[in-house]
Amino acid sequence: MSLFAGVIVNSDALKVDKLFTYEVPDKLSALIEKGHRVRVPFGKGNKTIEAFVMELFSEFQGEFTRIKAISEICDDSPLLTEDDFSLINFMREKYLCKYIEAIRVIIPTGIMKGNKIKTKKVISYNGAELYGKFNKPNYEEVLQLIKNNSGIYTKSELIEKYNVSAYIIGKLIENKFVSVEDEQVNRINTRKYETYSSKVLNEEQRSAVETILNSENKLILLKGVTGSGKTEVYMNLVSNMLNEEKASLILVPEIALTPQMIERFKGRFGRNVAVFHSRLSDGERFDEWFRVKTGDVKLVIGARSAIFLPFKDLGLIVIDEEHEGTYKSEQNPKYHTREVAEFKSNLTGCTVVYGSATPSIESYYRTLKGEMKLVELKNRVDHSRLPIMEVIDMREELTNNNKSMFSKKLYNAIEDRLLKKEQIIIFLNRRGHSTFVSCRKCGYVFKCPHCDIAMTYHTNGYLVCHYCGTAKKQVNECPSCKSKYVKYFGAGTEKLEIEIKRMFPKARVLRMDVDTTRKKNSHEEIYNSFKNGEADILVGTQMISKGLDFPNVTLVGVITADISLNLPDFRSSERTYQLITQVGGRAGRGSKEGYVLVQSYNPEHYSLSYAKNNDYEGFFAEEIKLRKSMNYPPYANIMVINMSSKDQLGLQKHSENIGVNIKKMLQYNDKVDVMGPCPCIISKINEMYRWQILIKGNFDATLAHNIKDMVYDLSNAVYNEIRISMDVNPNNLI
Ligand code: ADP
Ligand code: ZN
Ligand code: ZN
Repeated sequence: MSLFAGVIVNSDALKVDKLFTYEVPDKLSALIEKGHRVRVPFGKGNKTIEAFVMELFSEFQGEFTRIKAISEICDDSPLLTEDDFSLINFMREKYLCKYIEAIRVIIPTGIMKGNKIKTKKVISYNGAELYGKFNKPNYEEVLQLIKNNSGIYTKSELIEKYNVSAYIIGKLIENKFVSVEDEQVNRINTRKYETYSSKVLNEEQRSAVETILNSENKLILLKGVTGSGKTEVYMNLVSNMLNEEKASLILVPEIALTPQMIERFKGRFGRNVAVFHSRLSDGERFDEWFRVKTGDVKLVIGARSAIFLPFKDLGLIVIDEEHEGTYKSEQNPKYHTREVAEFKSNLTGCTVVYGSATPSIESYYRTLKGEMKLVELKNRVDHSRLPIMEVIDMREELTNNNKSMFSKKLYNAIEDRLLKKEQIIIFLNRRGHSTFVSCRKCGYVFKCPHCDIAMTYHTNGYLVCHYCGTAKKQVNECPSCKSKYVKYFGAGTEKLEIEIKRMFPKARVLRMDVDTTRKKNSHEEIYNSFKNGEADILVGTQMISKGLDFPNVTLVGVITADISLNLPDFRSSERTYQLITQVGGRAGRGSKEGYVLVQSYNPEHYSLSYAKNNDYEGFFAEEIKLRKSMNYPPYANIMVINMSSKDQLGLQKHSENIGVNIKKMLQYNDKVDVMGPCPCIISKINEMYRWQILIKGNFDATLAHNIKDMVYDLSNAVYNEIRISMDVNPNNLI
């Protein structure tokens, strides 16, 4: 009986996003399974390429003569499981992606490339005694040595360490007194961590753990104020899982920015913690992946891609700081980690804990509808008080002729903390020195030659484009009118650092932003140095808003809250509320009271006033009203079709054509609005012009797919010139 396979080929071309049928040759038919990675001849030249077996069947209706056969099977066991197939379908449906894109996040290239277990040839004792001509003291001595270290050292290690004769070892091996075996070597480094001892949970934490473990609803929103000890709750849940031999996954927004989380988990659970993130080498990734697959490791801390690890018996997923934007992927499939976790929970019954001090509007809304269970930690551990927050009107400072970056109040507070030898964090969510350079005489703005964006001046003497990275040496003459009135506007963290050093010359200052943390480990170095009290002031971008717990920080200053408030995005208020609360939460974590000063030109804004009173519910009530009246998520969906091309005119024509067709398709549908086509807010990045169409309203997956199919059909002819990208409920609309 012949056997056939439906496969997905590993190729990016649009046309191949479907199953291709291949015959399974007799020699492979006993071995092949659904989920296997194989190689198949493909295309006109019959070059063999990689493919994945999605189905196996014995009845074949089509034209038999043209069918090709599978060339080989790549791995011993299938890479994709039954659950993976459900996940692939879920992602295709929800994120409008191709089969191969879904497969690639589940089995990343790194896993395939690193797909070899590194082994070393260790020497083991066989149990046999020496006999005949080998029964001599010098042989006995070496055998005894191997007996005592059986399975530990390689031949060369034995020679090096114990200075024994290579000849004798060779003879022992040859005559089977000892044997050579492969031992798996783990490529993950085994740095030691300081022990982080178990704490006795307070009443709130204990009750939270109990509620979570006993909850019928497996989706839990753990809303706990900053410093309420959420991590301790996570650890307790993990221990419970380990007792039941179940695995746990702890997701963090960005591994590099959360050294404390890793420190604590490693310090508590030791070597059995795997850390999974994008900076691992292919080999390291594979080793961790393999340890998870075999069930060897039952606790993983990872960034969003770890959600796809092949856990054996998963009991718990924690998504810490669930409101963070990094949980949404910007590449196909544009999955949201929150949603994939929920899908996994439906599949396996595992508990998902979404943790945050400032939950996303979407998640909190779901608790009100009963789709998620709300569990709260309302107090800081040991009832230390939340910091006191004050919003400072910077317009008044201007009226009082204060043109510096610091209000009088913030200046005085810094001086006071320096005197008391307490630490200070100053937050400014913009890097570089000046964000805008222009000519005062003719108005010329120094823009990136490749992007529609002003360049940022950096103190190294370069103007840098933060979108494409182009750097140009700074000039003091206007390229347009040749005047010398080139002026620098808009401050970033570099300027802030300089200003602080000028105004407080005795203070020791550290800066943490993208520019100071490019080198491996530099983030950790800055973090450790501040933790050890080697600096008084830490200046930084949103990098410093997450997960840092420094007991000696008593003052947090926010230079301007307006940057995030003024973003052209429906989430700007939510972002501002979250950012201010998170940075502010770094203050007063020890025994001393914390103080937060937020400077703004828009101090009456509701995100600031509710953040000031730490009133999340108040903020939510206000924000959800707006979302409803404007028909934004969670009340409606937004689908964005982004089109980009080097050919400005061709792009415009194509966008307009797609726009006309979408409007025609939706003309009798009064539940959705189509906006655009129009140029994006940033109309060019890296020589690519950008246009978009926005579809907003109540639409389901079927409609989204129909739109997608139509857009792709219309774009087939220009596939090489115009890049198309679609996203449902994207992170930002820029
Ligand atoms: P969150 O993540 O909610 O902001 P953390 O988990 O960082 O808070 O906890 C804040 C601090 O309180 C940490 O230093 C932690 O070690 C400590 N802590 C947490 N729970 C307890 C407890 N039950 N007893 C004593 N200290 C605790
Ligand atoms: Zn000029
Ligand atoms: Zn650029």
